[in-house]
Amino acid sequence: MDFAYVSGNPALDLAGTVLSRRDEPVDVLAAPADLERWVAQCDALPDRVTADAATFESALALREAVHRLALDRVLGRPFDPGSLGIINATAAGPVPTVELGDAGLRTSGDLPAVLSQLAGTGIAVLADPHACLKECGRGGCTRIYLDRSRGARRSWCGMDECGNRVKAAAYRARKRAATTAEG
Ligand SMILES: [Zn+2]
Repeated sequence: MDFAYVSGNPALDLAGTVLSRRDEPVDVLAAPADLERWVAQCDALPDRVTADAATFESALALREAVHRLALDRVLGRPFDPGSLGIINATAAGPVPTVELGDAGLRTSGDLPAVLSQLAGTGIAVLADPHACLKECGRGGCTRIYLDRSRGARRSWCGMDECGNRVKAAAYRARKRAATTAEG
């Protein structure tokens, strides 16, 4: 499963690396190496970074701050001050450099720079009054995503991740109902 790209914003994707937050949380980023892989998967971020223990902890703190703030935004309540402090302090650091070449855009920087960039994209989406943030409609998913669809009519974080699962479950339920009615 691909954990980058699903939420429509890199900071929200970072927050989405804890699955099923309410029921049985699964942490995709269990160790610094997982974070290195996640950054490498993310299009907008440098291909190769090294995560030490301290920077890994900062990444997890940023992740939880982004999730809390995004949830505050979804629920229409004031932002949590502690989480604001974390995202703002992280965004204040130096960000990766970008270079244009024939192969396109090249991004380079270390992990602290990546975290600053992630915090910055998180701030941009959280501050945007037109950005439509939603929590996934599949019970138990808890991923918060940016709905860019026309009329903001998306119900799930991603079709592969949740949409198809919801549809398959509905199909099975209908089939069961039909079998019961026949029998
Ligand atoms: Zn989902």
